Amino acid sequence: MALKIVDRCVNCHACQMVCPTGSIRKGKNDAHFLINQDTCTECVGSYDEPQCSSICPIECAIEFSDGSPVNPFGSLTGLPLDKAPLV
Ligand code: SF4
Ligand code: SF4
Repeated sequence: MALKIVDRCVNCHACQMVCPTGSIRKGKNDAHFLINQDTCTECVGSYDEPQCSSICPIECAIEFSDGSPVNPFGSLTGLPLDKAPLV
């Protein structure tokens, strides 16, 4: 049970500062940030919702283990899905 950061991450550092388990680190060679799959608890027992995705400003940058985005397109901007940027 762990969240995953994908390549839409813009390396803003915000999630790293709020993770209660210290599970987020910067990727090597300026790659996007990464979540330690062994220590991420999805914040269960610490907070009602994952703190990394709560503070992340980029839609679809963090995914559940099944690959679905925690913050899907439109969830932060309010834009309708047909206005979502192509990735
Ligand atoms: S879900 Fe919680 S424990 Fe997991 S990386 Fe995000 S902030 Fe850290
Ligand atoms: S808050 Fe979002 S954009 Fe910023 S480093 Fe974390 S995953 Fe990347």
